[in-house]
Amino acid sequence: MKPLIRFCLVASLALVAGCQTGSVDSSLSQADSTKTRQQKDAVMRGIHLMLGSDWQAAALQEQLARLAAAGVNTLILETDYDFAFKSHPELSSPGCVTPARAHELAAEARRLGIRLIPQINCLGHQSWSKTTLALLKNHPEFDETPGQYPNNTNIYCRSWCPQNPDVNKVVFALVDELVNAFEADAFHVGMDEVFLIASEHCPRCRGGDPAKLFAQAVNDLHHHIVTERKWEMFMWADRLLDAKTMGYGEWESARNGTAGAVDLIPKDIVLCDWHYELRTNYPSVPFLVGKGFRVWPSGWKSLPAARALSEFSRQQQSKGVVGYLCTTWGAVRIPSLAEWPPLLEPMKEWSMTPLPPRPL
Ligand SMILES: [Zn+2]
Repeated sequence: MKPLIRFCLVASLALVAGCQTGSVDSSLSQADSTKTRQQKDAVMRGIHLMLGSDWQAAALQEQLARLAAAGVNTLILETDYDFAFKSHPELSSPGCVTPARAHELAAEARRLGIRLIPQINCLGHQSWSKTTLALLKNHPEFDETPGQYPNNTNIYCRSWCPQNPDVNKVVFALVDELVNAFEADAFHVGMDEVFLIASEHCPRCRGGDPAKLFAQAVNDLHHHIVTERKWEMFMWADRLLDAKTMGYGEWESARNGTAGAVDLIPKDIVLCDWHYELRTNYPSVPFLVGKGFRVWPSGWKSLPAARALSEFSRQQQSKGVVGYLCTTWGAVRIPSLAEWPPLLEPMKEWSMTPLPPRPL
């Protein structure tokens, strides 16, 4: 349940500045990784932001010191295709984030002890409303439902086909460029709200098991990001949760057969378990910890809901709960981030040690 503003915001801000190509210096990411590795064991106090332009990146850079002072030590930066890719310039858009600006942002973040983790939403979320995003627009052959749903009517978002033999080659090149540009040692693959999977319209996936197909996509990305590159991998958790047993809705958990993938993927992936509504408990947090994953509870703009998720997660008193991630989805402007209550309160809580006593 993410707002329409998600795409519109990025698309509009992407028009502000000209898109240019800069150099990518992979040695910087390696040097920086030493510091960020030291941060891995610390409590993660993060923000998820859509970052679609150099203009936004500059605005964010101006706020980094204030965010650090508020306790923030990690930023998930979702550029999707709004980056000046050298490997696939056809996917970039005017005004997108440039490598030069990404390096500037990374340098300031490093100085302040903030870890940057770039993101492309993989597999699902390949369209928004009537707009098909750059990957499937330029490579319609990767579409899970090729030629179907004109103008994206009657669907939520398009997906790419996890069994297309060529899609990963393109995606892995984008991942590598983003990690290098942001001098990172981790990547967030998104993968939330995938509804189109094992489609009858896909000759490869028709009749397949959605859980196995979803796990295949996760495992392919993990092989590149973790096994080959030795980076850390983050993803949204909703497709790994069975709506019937969790009691969540079909957005923050799955009713489309993907939940079995939870037992088919590596345990070293950090799962961002997002829940934006007020509840008395959030059973997915102990469930995923019990499966052996590290879990990063993720809230949004409702202060009572953010407070409830944060407190419930802290009460688990588990090393498997790595901290708190505040998503934004256009609900707050970057210059106002450092004063935003749904961010400030959880950051303050997770800055405190030791954890509060578990209620009897
Ligand atoms: Zn397919």
